Amino acid sequence: MSDTFEELRQGFERDCAAITDAESWKAVRDKYLAREGGAITAAMKRLRTLPKEERPLFGQKMNELRTLVEGRLEGLLQTAKAAEASGRGMPLDVTRPGFPLASGSAHPIKRLQAEIEQIFVGMGFQIRNLPEIETDYYNFEALNMPRNHPARDAQDTFYFDDTVLLRTHCSSVQPHSLEGATPPVRAISTGKVYRRDPFDATHSPMFYQVDVVAVEKGLTMGDLKGTLGVFLQRVFGREVKMRLRPGFFPFVEPGAEVDIGCIFCGGKGCPTCKGSGWIEILGAGMIHPKVLRMSGVDDGVYSGFAWGMGIDRVAILKYGVDDIRLFFENDLRFLQQF
Ligand SMILES: [Zn+2]
Repeated sequence: MSDTFEELRQGFERDCAAITDAESWKAVRDKYLAREGGAITAAMKRLRTLPKEERPLFGQKMNELRTLVEGRLEGLLQTAKAAEASGRGMPLDVTRPGFPLASGSAHPIKRLQAEIEQIFVGMGFQIRNLPEIETDYYNFEALNMPRNHPARDAQDTFYFDDTVLLRTHCSSVQPHSLEGATPPVRAISTGKVYRRDPFDATHSPMFYQVDVVAVEKGLTMGDLKGTLGVFLQRVFGREVKMRLRPGFFPFVEPGAEVDIGCIFCGGKGCPTCKGSGWIEILGAGMIHPKVLRMSGVDDGVYSGFAWGMGIDRVAILKYGVDDIRLFFENDLRFLQQF
């Protein structure tokens, strides 16, 4: 309700600023006060449609606005007449209220992306900025997904030609960081990825991902689990229960699906976690020896872990949003809540 008044008031002030003579003054008066079609008159008529308990406040506010508008117009008429007579135009009105400028802010997904990057910087990881247009080699082949590998089906994407495509994940951070490097290597890459998915409550053909790679002598699943635990705790801002289940991804061996204790019901079971108390959040594992070898890393000396996770997925869980599309529709009423 207060929005209506504020919009009317600001619109009125803006229109007042455009008054230059008696004629433009009359146009503004009619716009707000005309018996037929005046903005304030029309708003007054809405009084009858409101619930009983809202009417007194609405009526009072509307009367205040009407008094303000009438007062301003009265003063402006004198000024406009004088300006017309003198031929020097309207004087500068230094008492006119200012108009607040709406200031923008970073999109919640971009903010979370920056937050995630900072968490990894704090753990000694390097941030790699990698291209969204990627070669088939870095997106698939170097990650142990040769041509005709069935795992490619799960990541059907958009191709420019036989060898160039829109990346389906940020996992190319593995070959890009390992090629020509001498471990230890710790790197992440975040950004947009693309898949031929329908656009619905839980899918989008474009979404944000973060992919993590760490390679050095003697890294184990224990290091993976420890790093994951610290990361999840920092990103959710509290202790988060976590479990690893065996899972298959061609570029890791062994691979794991990682669940966190449902943050909506605290593990008791609710519709969001389908009663299980757990929510799947990411895929992880020890980097496949073949992936290390293809990037020129001696898998007899070094080992490493990797994981990949949807940033939008984290946002959904962190902020309790039930539809991924809300993040991409740019409705300010939604975005301003963050
Ligand atoms: Zn739950």
